Amino acid sequence: MNLAEEVRLAGVVGAGGGGFPTHVKLNAKAETVIANGAECEPLLHKDAVIMEESAAEVVRGMQLAIEAVGAKEGVIGIKGKKKRAVEAVAAACQGRNIRVQLLGDYYPAGDEFDLVYSVTGKLIPPGGIPLDVGVLVNNVETFVNIAAAHDGQPLTHKMLTIAGAVKSPATLKVPLGTTFRECIQHAGGLATDDPVLVIGGLMMGRHTDDLDTPVTKTSTGGVILPRTHHVIERKLKPSRAQASIGKSACDQCRYCTEYCPRYLLGYSVEPHQVMRTLAFTGTGADYYNQWAALCCACGLCTLYACPEELFPKEACDDAKAVMRAKQIKWTGPMHPKPHAMADGRHVPIQMLAKKLHVLDYDLPAPLLEEAIAPGRLILPLKQSAGTACLPKVKIGDRVSAGQVIGEPAPNALGALLHAPVAGVVNGVNAQQIILEIS
Ligand code: SF4
Ligand code: SF4
Repeated sequence: MNLAEEVRLAGVVGAGGGGFPTHVKLNAKAETVIANGAECEPLLHKDAVIMEESAAEVVRGMQLAIEAVGAKEGVIGIKGKKKRAVEAVAAACQGRNIRVQLLGDYYPAGDEFDLVYSVTGKLIPPGGIPLDVGVLVNNVETFVNIAAAHDGQPLTHKMLTIAGAVKSPATLKVPLGTTFRECIQHAGGLATDDPVLVIGGLMMGRHTDDLDTPVTKTSTGGVILPRTHHVIERKLKPSRAQASIGKSACDQCRYCTEYCPRYLLGYSVEPHQVMRTLAFTGTGADYYNQWAALCCACGLCTLYACPEELFPKEACDDAKAVMRAKQIKWTGPMHPKPHAMADGRHVPIQMLAKKLHVLDYDLPAPLLEEAIAPGRLILPLKQSAGTACLPKVKIGDRVSAGQVIGEPAPNALGALLHAPVAGVVNGVNAQQIILEIS
């Protein structure tokens, strides 16, 4: 059996948040394999912990991937400030065709377009993927999961950081389906009585009031902040209010564009132009929407650049949704050239944390060694890019650890879902499976 099939059977998907089924990437050919250990979201540390604790497995997974795609070398992209992680992976790379590349401490150094350019000097074509320039990129945790898949172990657990308004920020390894409420208890409990949870990080994550949301294969962390926190107040502003404020207050200063990492790499992303859609209808909006098509939703324009605290990222989200609904394709220039000021305009993580008003929460989140064994797991059937799984169990079934409980429809993009631990199915519908653990 080849590696791609082993990884498919293990249900491995991108662990950095993207969730693309990993076996599909492993069926391609590439010259370079990159492990993404940049970890740019303020307050999250799970990738650094993985590299410190499991460097040998990161490197073993990379070596397997290098052989599977026929690559010449592997590169681990990591920030120089993560000294312990750098030392651990550098030692594990000894004697292999894998090297460590230190990245600048800016946001978003881990964006695939930025990372591929930093490591190889190549720019991914507009609308393309790293494989278009011969590069395979996976998060460091994904490589650990590739190594485990090669050993016949399915993906059943997830590493994530719990940070923000909790008593003891920590990095945890939990069974898929564990609720964030349970994770928070293992991080010492809440340090606010009116919490809002941001899953996946403050810049690119999604916020929710529901602490019983389960951890999935793509959960990189949970940041808890009080509802009155500045960032939460901004995120909670209704989209109609975001748009109407933008329409009346945007003075077209261009700061959002001048700091946009995609614009600085030379791509045709200009959020200040997208902001003009707020004042146009019909053909005017269709023209200005084009400037959002290559936006990666990093959030820098909204949460850092705009001096008036408007919402250009959200305007870009809306523009992309309109383009999809109208089936309008982007038809701009195909040969980006980095901006002369690209290096000088990088946003340091510390400056970003200051702007986000989270410096007080910027604390270590060490690995919690204790095993976490919830009494109940909530397992969404959609945990990857592509389609949701179809359930393979019914209420009352007793399942064993690692048993397949959901699988994608034939020929559909997706990933198998396994029972993280042994238990009894006590709920099944099209969205999720609930397991009671005795
Ligand atoms: S930075 Fe803010 S005010 Fe300036 S153009 Fe962008 S959205 Fe408008
Ligand atoms: S979210 Fe804003 S800064 Fe980020 S890529 Fe999109 S337009 Fe650029």
